[in-house]
Amino acid sequence: MTPTARTAPATLTHRFADAVPEMAVAWRADAPPAPALLVLDDALATELGLDPAFLRTPAGLAFLTGTALPDGAQPVAQAYAGHQFGGYNPRLGDGRALLLGELTARDGATHDLHLKGSGPTPFARGGDGYAAVGPMLREYVVSEAMHALGIPTTRALAVVATGRDVVREQILPGAVLVRTASSHLRVGSVVFANATGDRDVLERLVDHAIERHDPGIDPETAAATPTDRARALLDVVIARQADLIARWMLVGFVHGVMNTDNMTLSGETIDYGPCAFLDAFDPGAVFSSIDRQGRYAYGNQPGIGEWNLARLAEALLPLLADDTDAAISVAQDALDAYRPAYNEAWSAGIREKLGIGAPDARRDEDAVPALVSDLFDLLAVSRADYTLFFRHLATAARGDAKPLRSLVADAGPLDLWLARWLALAPDPEAMDRVNPLYIPRNHLVEEALAAASDTGDLTLLHRLTDAVRSPFTERLGLERYAEPAPDAFGPYVTYCGT
Ligand code: AMP
Ligand code: MG
Repeated sequence: MTPTARTAPATLTHRFADAVPEMAVAWRADAPPAPALLVLDDALATELGLDPAFLRTPAGLAFLTGTALPDGAQPVAQAYAGHQFGGYNPRLGDGRALLLGELTARDGATHDLHLKGSGPTPFARGGDGYAAVGPMLREYVVSEAMHALGIPTTRALAVVATGRDVVREQILPGAVLVRTASSHLRVGSVVFANATGDRDVLERLVDHAIERHDPGIDPETAAATPTDRARALLDVVIARQADLIARWMLVGFVHGVMNTDNMTLSGETIDYGPCAFLDAFDPGAVFSSIDRQGRYAYGNQPGIGEWNLARLAEALLPLLADDTDAAISVAQDALDAYRPAYNEAWSAGIREKLGIGAPDARRDEDAVPALVSDLFDLLAVSRADYTLFFRHLATAARGDAKPLRSLVADAGPLDLWLARWLALAPDPEAMDRVNPLYIPRNHLVEEALAAASDTGDLTLLHRLTDAVRSPFTERLGLERYAEPAPDAFGPYVTYCGT
């Protein structure tokens, strides 16, 4: 049957809840007193097989806020554990979120449909269970930017104002974020499954994760036993996270709260709380108000990724071998792949950013490693705007180094470096295809969220979203979206979980 306009989705499956009922608490979303759609990603809705025209109707809003679901839907709060800033918490879970179910997209892929800010659940631990308009719109625009940058991420389908005030330092308008993801399985999910002490739960979670993300791990051959399947899952998650974190580093993204409950098995970026993009390059950049030790600083992210994956490996130990020593050596063997995978992904990416991605017989390949490391020394010393640096570098390759020079106080070392780089015959067109011009700069995000939250004016938010949706293509009229923050903006601080 071809879908007609204004139709509700036919089904939401509950494969997670069926696979590991021990990790799913049946729950319902609170009905928002006065739901009003703030933003809807029409293109994403269509990809998911949802009808945007329907989603804009009152019945569509009831669907989006989880209050009117298709027959048979079984929304659940998911249980998971997590290491928060290194400290283990055995029971986090969806305190203010719900998995409504899984949707089959038009391309046949399965996506979680999930709410954030839908009311307190048994995992709320004293939290109110709600979310404010500002932070939910922040996730909308930043995740959209990440997607447009080609970085794996959960997606934001919609943000719906609830009409309910939420109490933070001030009283703020409330909202629900409707999020989609290839799943919400996290490192913390596996840690939780292991902590149940029931090997069968852990096995079923591993099987469910493989079924969702890696059905190619063939149960009949290579991964026939639970041991092989656990190892295969560990390997593939390590590879995906190495690749993901390399991409974050290349684009200057600081996640801000890389707790193990915020690291997915799918390799998608999740949980846009205190995240921010670098402006001035600084390996020590920390934006989150609660990250006082700088644990999740920009430059620490690759190492934290490895630490989190070690927690994943630990949680899988009971499946990795029959005795603990053997299991630890299997885990170590798997973890040993992380650094080379990360280095390979990052090195390939930085070559692309420098316009020397494709092999070229004219190039002195031996010169590349020192050139790259000298570049990052130069960036750290000059604290140049990270994003503009690479765009202006392409302009320099086209013959005009003036914009690039304007980013640094002392052009002397830069000019010496430029001469070495230009000798490698970089391709500026290729550079502009990978180095964004428009990112969700912190001052732009803040001004758009303030307008939306304070006065309900979404104009700036829409403009910013439009800019970051095509991050690589320079457009007239968007000049201010490419510029660094004015000095008056000051040091940037983000707030978590608000
Ligand atoms: P996050 O910082 O968003 O990763 O959240 C960490 C944990 O705190 C998760 O278990 C969340 O469900 C929970 N949480 C965060 N904010 C709230 C809230 N307002 N009410 C209830 N639980 C919350
Ligand atoms: Mg989280």
